[in-house]
Amino acid sequence: MKIKTTADYLTSLQKLNPTIYYRGERIKDVTRHPATAPHVRSAAMTFSLANNEKYRDLATATSHLTGNTISRFTHVHQSVEDLIKKIKLLRVLGQKTGTCFQRCVGFDGINAVYTVAYEVDQKLGTDYLERFKKWLIDVQDENRMVVGAMTDPKGDRSKSPAQQSDPDQYVRVVKRTDDGVYIRGAKLHMTGAVNSHEILVMPTTALDEQSADYAIVCAIPIDAKGITMIFGRQANDSRRDNLENIDSGKPRFGAVGGEAVIVFDDVFVPHEKIFLNGEAEYTGAIVYRFAAHHRANYGACKTGLMDVLTGAVSYLAQAQGTAKASHIKEKVTEMIHLSETLYSSSIATSAEGWPTPSGGYMVNTMLANVCKQNVTRFHFEIARLALDIAGGFIATLPSEHDLKSEEVGHLVKKYFSGVEGIPVEDRIKIGRLIEAMTGGTALVESMHGAGSPQAQRVMIFREGDLTNKIKLAKSLAGIRQKQKSIK
Ligand code: SF4
Ligand code: FE
Repeated sequence: MKIKTTADYLTSLQKLNPTIYYRGERIKDVTRHPATAPHVRSAAMTFSLANNEKYRDLATATSHLTGNTISRFTHVHQSVEDLIKKIKLLRVLGQKTGTCFQRCVGFDGINAVYTVAYEVDQKLGTDYLERFKKWLIDVQDENRMVVGAMTDPKGDRSKSPAQQSDPDQYVRVVKRTDDGVYIRGAKLHMTGAVNSHEILVMPTTALDEQSADYAIVCAIPIDAKGITMIFGRQANDSRRDNLENIDSGKPRFGAVGGEAVIVFDDVFVPHEKIFLNGEAEYTGAIVYRFAAHHRANYGACKTGLMDVLTGAVSYLAQAQGTAKASHIKEKVTEMIHLSETLYSSSIATSAEGWPTPSGGYMVNTMLANVCKQNVTRFHFEIARLALDIAGGFIATLPSEHDLKSEEVGHLVKKYFSGVEGIPVEDRIKIGRLIEAMTGGTALVESMHGAGSPQAQRVMIFREGDLTNKIKLAKSLAGIRQKQKSIK
């Protein structure tokens, strides 16, 4: 692992020259710009945790390709134990950052592409897995951060990629040469894109043969010619501009992952970095496996955030003198209950993991979809309970400028004080943290990250095995199994 520490990671990013825009201006250094630096620090935790004796076993793994110690975020799961360690790691990282640390997207992409490339090669005699392994060994040895790029803009959703009036609404190959391909299009909502080293491009949906030019999987350096990124705005992001640290709620880390649009304007990809090229029938498997891995994560990374939120409201209740009230204890109990329910779901997806023909392990896809579906509900319920406990004070808090003002600072201190002995500044800080973790952009990721709720419901119904369930019911009711069910 060449990139070992936070300092190594920051230096490695400074050596790159990606084209990134934010609020109409080019960002020169993502490690220092106030909009991106918090996300860089959050992703840096995935590097620094590997140096912490307490977490080394979770944060590192042994490469099955080289035998070297590598970051778990570059590993291909080789066992159920690997899958469970990943879940435990994500919860710890969620607790330490209170936000998305971004690196799982590439991690899940690596695992999806590896297992499918093996199966494509077996069936078609291609050499995609060998190419992928070469690239992956390099990623592992260097310890690069990879952004998994899946979500296309999709234009008119009622039409397939090949039917779009603007064919660039899905990333596609626009030119083939003896040396490789040129790709065009865009990927939206790319978590961690601006502070990654590499992009792993994958299709966004299962494709048919008419859309073969869209069936492209490849790796591209983040600063390759033709790539432009536009970094998204987040709720209250301008609070970070002037170092209003208290007002930003979480001064060191961002509210969500730090998402960007990645635009590919005829970007060249050499053959050795192409891992699927036109074999449309395998795109569904890549999307399905990636989505399942990522959905399994949400009961872990988001549980880490819920742990922080539960701690924040519990402290605020102490600061306000309400901690001993029975209804507050009841609400905190419910927050813990919902968090642990989600975590059990993530652990279960992994405990029921299974080996693919490549040797790489997959999670239980039904449980992964159930897990993510529950995140879209429980995280919101937990946020509702947190705001209930916190009180309206979150919505009317004066700014840090007022707190420090010579004219009105003493008034803020007097009228926003709570229990004696707890500084008013601490009460305000914890209030701002709760605000940052329950509002605006923060919860959107729990709803739509790893796929919108309906995407999980489609999979839950498809994998529900109703035929077998009907059989069970018929058997117990004494109905002959041969009798046809009405469709
Ligand atoms: Fe990882 Fe969670 Fe962020 Fe997805 S939302 S990248 S699983 S931390
Ligand atoms: Fe996400």
